[in-house]
Amino acid sequence: MISENDARAKILEAVRPLPARKMSILEALDCFAAEDYFARLPLPMFDNSAMDGYAVRAGDCKPGKRLRVIGEQPAGVDRQLRVSNGQAIRIFTGAPIPAGANGIVMQEDVTRAGDEIVVNVEVEFDEFVRKRGCDLGEGQKILGKGDRIVATRLALLASQGLAEVLVGGEVRAAIISTGDELAEAGEKLEAGKIYDSNSILLQSLLKRSGAAVASTQHCGDDAKSLQKAFQAAARNEIAIVSGGVSVGEHDLVQSTLRELGAKIDIWRVAIKPGKPFLFGQLGSCFVFGLPGNPVSAFVTFLQFVRPAILKIMGASDLELPKIPAKLTVDLANDGDRAHYLRGKLEDGNFAPIGRQESHALFGLSQSNALLRVETGESIKAGATVHVQIWE
Ligand code: AMP
Ligand code: MG
Repeated sequence: MISENDARAKILEAVRPLPARKMSILEALDCFAAEDYFARLPLPMFDNSAMDGYAVRAGDCKPGKRLRVIGEQPAGVDRQLRVSNGQAIRIFTGAPIPAGANGIVMQEDVTRAGDEIVVNVEVEFDEFVRKRGCDLGEGQKILGKGDRIVATRLALLASQGLAEVLVGGEVRAAIISTGDELAEAGEKLEAGKIYDSNSILLQSLLKRSGAAVASTQHCGDDAKSLQKAFQAAARNEIAIVSGGVSVGEHDLVQSTLRELGAKIDIWRVAIKPGKPFLFGQLGSCFVFGLPGNPVSAFVTFLQFVRPAILKIMGASDLELPKIPAKLTVDLANDGDRAHYLRGKLEDGNFAPIGRQESHALFGLSQSNALLRVETGESIKAGATVHVQIWE
């Protein structure tokens, strides 16, 4: 049995980022930038008006002042107008500031009379003027290599006129669920059978991690069908097998992988739930063997599979987000494995929820955070803990 940290380090050492690819900006959402990006254009790109109103000379305006409206400056063209003392130019939001102007008076703050306005307020220097580059300067870094391209960053790239971005590769993953007891949705359940929930769990977690699900196969507990399933799965970057990694006579994943010539790098990790976790390489495919118990599959996916996927896709941050929370109960771990407790994070408090056994899928479904309690650690109610979230 190796420690959880050693297991993660070994996995992350084995996997390598895929080659980068050019991608249309429309499809780059949730990919990872494969290079640093710098602003080619400042934001705003030119001094422009933050309001519909009148461009004026600030020093020239005080309440009661009459100004002649000498032109109109809409957004989308630059009419190259110039304003002097005693004058105003009708202007609209986003329109370039005319030469000579250094303030905008809102249309609500003037009284219009023919081709004149009466200003009803003081106008401060640069009031309602959005200055070129005040948000983003030319050459400033806008995205780092390995950053996830979320909607707002995608919009920022679009503001630079980019049609394509260089992003990390796409991970294709095969799922194999094993077990003679498993039935598919819609099938009639014979006595002793259960519905396969791990396939769905793993598909969902893979999608959330940004990987593509290449195939989902189901195998009984027999070496022949397992072999075939692995051979098909090995065409992908990763294969995730659920069940069959433990020590029973029906747990055939490890022996089958060895027969196929796979290299087994990890088997059994000091993590609860998830001890029988397996990691190996079959040809160029990384194989993750997750225990069949749903909570074990969930926890080992998040701790071992997710960071590997992120690394292969070129992400720089491989960690789950961690949130500080106040623990509501006393906790202690006197076992020999780090314990991941499922709990509910609500209003800054964390409380364990549901049964804490590895088969307890309902309890897991009620939780939204994981608390890792190290071996030998005890934590008192009221203490601040840092819990992992995954949604
Ligand atoms: P195993 O890891 O194969 O020994 O399975 C451990 C437990 O997980 C057993 O109770 C299995 O019935 C259950 N299990 C295995 N695979 C799945 C699955 N795909 N969906 C739901 N439960 C499963
Ligand atoms: Mg099994």
